[in-house]
Amino acid sequence: MGQHLCAAPGCSMTITKHRLMCAYHWFKVPPLLRDEVTTRYNVYRIHPGPYAWSQYVAARELAIDEVTS
Ligand SMILES: [Zn+2]
Repeated sequence: MGQHLCAAPGCSMTITKHRLMCAYHWFKVPPLLRDEVTTRYNVYRIHPGPYAWSQYVAARELAIDEVTS
């Protein structure tokens, strides 16, 4: 429990649940977008709700796009 796979497609690295991707993929995401994902995730953890979640998911999808291409 508390672990999941890296969000990058095809990556089989197992990481803790508070991380989106393994270090290798995470550092391929542009720094500003990394900050965005981290900030939105923290906002969601502090104030859980559908809006905060959708904001986080939108940033997460952008980050995944960055490592997919
Ligand atoms: Zn990965």
